[in-house]
Amino acid sequence: MKAKITVLGGDGIGPEVTGEAVRVLEAVAARYAHEFEFVEALIGGAAIDSSGSPLPPRTIDACRSSDAVLLGAVGGPKWSDPSARVRPEQGLLELRRVLGLFANLRPVRTQAEMLEASPLKPEVIAGADIMVVRELTGGIYFGRKTRTAHEAEDVCSYTTTEIERVTRVAGRLAMGRRKHIVSVDKANVLETSRLWRTVVERVLAEEYPEVQLEHMLVDAAAMHLLRRPTSFDVLLTENMFGDILTDEASMLVGSLGLLPSASLGDTSVGLYEPIHGSAPDIAGRGIANPCGTILSAAMLLRHSLSLETEATAVENAVSAALAAGLRTADIAGPGTAAVGSRAAGDAVISRILS
Ligand code: NAD
Repeated sequence: MKAKITVLGGDGIGPEVTGEAVRVLEAVAARYAHEFEFVEALIGGAAIDSSGSPLPPRTIDACRSSDAVLLGAVGGPKWSDPSARVRPEQGLLELRRVLGLFANLRPVRTQAEMLEASPLKPEVIAGADIMVVRELTGGIYFGRKTRTAHEAEDVCSYTTTEIERVTRVAGRLAMGRRKHIVSVDKANVLETSRLWRTVVERVLAEEYPEVQLEHMLVDAAAMHLLRRPTSFDVLLTENMFGDILTDEASMLVGSLGLLPSASLGDTSVGLYEPIHGSAPDIAGRGIANPCGTILSAAMLLRHSLSLETEATAVENAVSAALAAGLRTADIAGPGTAAVGSRAAGDAVISRILS
């Protein structure tokens, strides 16, 4: 197949990790006879430096006219003045908005050879395989904000439409997995959570009756994620709870550098990015772990291009490379030799091509 993929390297280690993911996608194209066209565009601090805007019109046009978008990360100390009028993160928030990306998917799966990388006990995390589905464009992050000298307010609101559409994404994913959804809310306190419960129950009962639904309060979910992570299949939640719980869940795997994400909307143009940031402390040294971005590229193949075989091939190649001892600095234990980003990319590519 032919596909156009916009690549937004962004700042810091962003271009280093997207560079490796693009090489992996090129290997997939060669191995499975596809034609992928890559279009590079600017976002974040790099875009502010060149045009004054964190999301220039040319970048929006490139993303809108492509089949999928692969992103590195945005931000860094150079643009971190809190009083600045334009900030790199605005580019990412605006991109999610213009592409209508309301569902954020973060798979968290532990791997036998990597259990030591997590700060948690191996016997607790072994076998954990969770798909977190976070609502991405509603809730308190997008509600009305007011501020006076002595008072500040952030309004949390959700509509039934916003809850319905993200529930459908979770239902569809659950059907391809273990058919179990834990919906996380704070229904004992929040009105938005009570609406959330009602709508999630209705949509799943009507459209995904085979899926087993469990409600869980967010405070209990925070505990159970660490106490019995293997009991979760799909975890569905609203924007702010999802923001917090996904970072917590990432610790099951150990390194931020290993985890991918996808943001999906009504169209097939999805946005795929690692969950980590621009890591200014290691930028420019060629030592960043590209696996999270490579696994994001696998999600791109699956969700935007419907290339399931190719997506699985990339995921298996990463797993096999890690199982064979591939370690970048972030996951190399004391006394273990670490490889750089390029060598990590090569280790994945050679397994795809073999
Ligand atoms: P970070 O994720 O960039 O880094 C946290 C720590 O993890 C650092 O020590 C870093 O070296 C390490 N790390 C992260 N990714 C790694 C990788 N692939 N390989 C090896 N080590 C890795 O978070 P931070 O330091 O809090 O933020 C740095 C900048 O990134 C800030 O400007 C922040 O706003 C931005 N940020 C952007 C995004 C995004 O673009 N989606 C997300 C989070 C943070």
